[in-house]
Amino acid sequence: MSATIYPWQGDAWTQLQTVRARLPHALLFHGPAGTGKSDFIEAFAQSLLCENVQPDGRACGACASCGWFAQGNHPDYRRVRPEALEDEPIAAEGEEAGEGDKKAKSTKAPSKEIKIEQVRALADFMNISTHRQGLRVVVLYPAEALNLPASNALLKTLEEPPPGTVFLLSSDGLDRLLPTILSRCRKFALPLPDHAAALAWLQEQGVADADGWLREQGGAPLTALAQAEAGSREEFDTLLQFLAQPAVDAALRAADKLSKAPLANLVAWQQRWLYDLLSHKLAGRVRYYPRHARELARLAERVSTAKLLRAVKAATERRAVADHPLSPKLFVEDMLLDYTACCS
Ligand SMILES: [Zn+2]
Repeated sequence: MSATIYPWQGDAWTQLQTVRARLPHALLFHGPAGTGKSDFIEAFAQSLLCENVQPDGRACGACASCGWFAQGNHPDYRRVRPEALEDEPIAAEGEEAGEGDKKAKSTKAPSKEIKIEQVRALADFMNISTHRQGLRVVVLYPAEALNLPASNALLKTLEEPPPGTVFLLSSDGLDRLLPTILSRCRKFALPLPDHAAALAWLQEQGVADADGWLREQGGAPLTALAQAEAGSREEFDTLLQFLAQPAVDAALRAADKLSKAPLANLVAWQQRWLYDLLSHKLAGRVRYYPRHARELARLAERVSTAKLLRAVKAATERRAVADHPLSPKLFVEDMLLDYTACCS
């Protein structure tokens, strides 16, 4: 485990150094999913524990503390995240990042929530004295994964912060957090990366058609990489081809091909498509699928706004159950036929 600061995070990192001198006991980093927030806060955690911090605020990577950190056993550091993220660091922030894939492989799905036991386990950690009387650092993400009991337990800790302890939280959506938690944290924004920087980085990772993937993932480079590496291009193309030219027989054929695809991805792709349709209809703009601008324009003319809004709502509801469908094939068929009806 080595903490990374991505090229698009340079400015934010510099800005963060001004917070260092008077560190609040809880910092909440927020911004779009799939942009590397969790790596960023881990890099900050490492630097707070480092015994030989570099002039630019980065950890030295060579001291004893950095050594423990890299091995994942620093005595003054704890990382709290859902069980489901434990073996897939890239997917850490991406709600779309291959969750369906993983589900299919394991019988008992790992939890996507941060549970109260995980927060309670911090109590012991905070009660023992620190190594060399330094800081204790707790990294927790995504904060919206805290279930209600866990949120309340964390809130108690944030209300009476143990001395010398810093909480670094990250969140994809502040609106999904309890206001009481929000009010206890200093907020720090990590905006969407600059397109050119994100594109250059994706190309460095060897992603073919990096620009297409990046746009389709709304500019989030880590999600784009995860998607590109998941080898889901064929499924993606099948779905897009259908969405561009919906018909009942095409829906059934596509559903056949897509029944083994990660359902959460399919729904997310369709949600973006619907977003583009609506956006084209209302504002003449396309955000995610510029390559399909012509088809989107043609469909937008045909579909009423009311029908589109209903389809958007249905997609949101589908997203919620995509992890536990009774039958994946029926789930996909239903989704595609609904869309066909919406467009007819
Ligand atoms: Zn160090």
